[in-house]
Amino acid sequence: MTKTVYIKTVGCQMNVLDSEMVIADLKRHGYTVVDTPGEADLLLYNTCSIREQAEEKTYSALGKLKETKARHPEKTIGVMGCMAQKDQETIFRRAPFVDMVVGPGQLHAIPDMLTKVTSGEGRQMAVSLGRKDGKQTVVARSHETFDPLRDPTMRPTPFQAYLRIQIGCDKFCTYCVVPNTRGPEQGRSPEEIVSEARVLAEQGALEITLLGQTVNSYRHRGPDGETDMAGLLERLHDIDGLKRIKFVTNYPKDMTARLLETIRDLPKVSPYLHVPAQSGSDAVLKRMKRGYTIADYMEMFERIETILPEASVSSDFIVGFCGETDEDFQKSVKLIERCRFKNSFIFQYSVREGTKAAANLIDDVPREVKAARNNELLAVQDRISKEDNQKLIGGTVEVLVEGPSKKADKSDPEAPVVQMTGRTICDRIVVFDGNRRQAGQLMDIQIDDVSSHTLIGRVKTVEVVSLGMPG
Ligand code: SAM
Ligand code: SF4
Repeated sequence: MTKTVYIKTVGCQMNVLDSEMVIADLKRHGYTVVDTPGEADLLLYNTCSIREQAEEKTYSALGKLKETKARHPEKTIGVMGCMAQKDQETIFRRAPFVDMVVGPGQLHAIPDMLTKVTSGEGRQMAVSLGRKDGKQTVVARSHETFDPLRDPTMRPTPFQAYLRIQIGCDKFCTYCVVPNTRGPEQGRSPEEIVSEARVLAEQGALEITLLGQTVNSYRHRGPDGETDMAGLLERLHDIDGLKRIKFVTNYPKDMTARLLETIRDLPKVSPYLHVPAQSGSDAVLKRMKRGYTIADYMEMFERIETILPEASVSSDFIVGFCGETDEDFQKSVKLIERCRFKNSFIFQYSVREGTKAAANLIDDVPREVKAARNNELLAVQDRISKEDNQKLIGGTVEVLVEGPSKKADKSDPEAPVVQMTGRTICDRIVVFDGNRRQAGQLMDIQIDDVSSHTLIGRVKTVEVVSLGMPG
């Protein structure tokens, strides 16, 4: 008998990939995917812990399932992802009708847990060890990579795929839960990565995005010596069928000249570099324990400008971190103005239980001040993004077409012309009028107009030279 699963995913690309993996696994165990919780035998929530707001949204979504479970006790409800690892028993306490809690390092256990739940063994929990629960190697082993056979039908587009090259994080920025929820940093073996990339290419992936919390710090020591990020990119570049290789997220201190030169010399590797600065103030960076100063960041930035002048660089910023003064904040404004990032993701600081900042620092920036700084920084970034996008008007960019835009999704599915969307190799979003069959093609688009987040263009028509042939 076929069983049905509904999955709701929030958070980062790692979560999107984890959901794809879990679904691929469940399909092999006889499940089919449905679009609404109402139709599902199994409801899975893949959660994020990065900020309190993300967690509260999940708890509120879970709260709404109380009645569903009362009416349909045969339905199984599972919570996976970072909040599962962080909150563990708390989830059962706050939402007693949840049947399974699974941390991101234990996803392989889901089919077994389901068997136990459905055979009446009661609720199940599978989480990894905490950072201090044992020796580093033992803790690391409990955060397993879960990378079973890939299933292209689970991806939003079959020609784009994520590929995990590194799990966990050892940087311990004082505000961040990731080193706790995802465990110690571990680079997967290059052989495993290359073989997975080959499978993806055979399945039709034209673009792969390599994932890691500090992806450019990637390292793996094997019998033939050590492979770093540059070495890995060289090996991936040889794979037939792949056209683009992207990677996120980068750590400023590990953006070496060797890596930048490798990116420059490998045409398939995208010169799009997401390198979060987090703050423009040395005092704040020190309290965040980011491990660099603004002078270090600028040295890295200038290295990018010299070696890869065509690169597009983007950043993350946290506003309102403990002790951030107006003067500190203005330094973040100045950094955006100096670096002219392609875009920045801006977050208001949220205290996270279990972090150094939660234990040792005071969350002293009022909520309204955080909100005002968020708006101000966004406005500066948006202005800069728009100004820089305007320079592209009249030019042509190569776009990997992803599919109909959100606007087109609402239009008539039979309409011959719809708004399509895609991305340039530097990760700029482009929309143009086209048709649904163009999804998965690389096309030249001439840019007519821009906003701060989007380039608007039309398919570049190639002049056809008549050869004077009949008919
Ligand atoms: N590993 C990546 C890095 O170091 O840039 C990204 C990790 S995190 C998933 C993505 C972003 O969330 C971070 O870059 C940071 O800006 C933000 N973030 C992390 N912890 C936060 C917190 N406690 N409050 C607000 N934003 C936070
Ligand atoms: Fe969190 Fe810092 Fe690691 Fe990024 S580098 S995941 S912000 S601890």
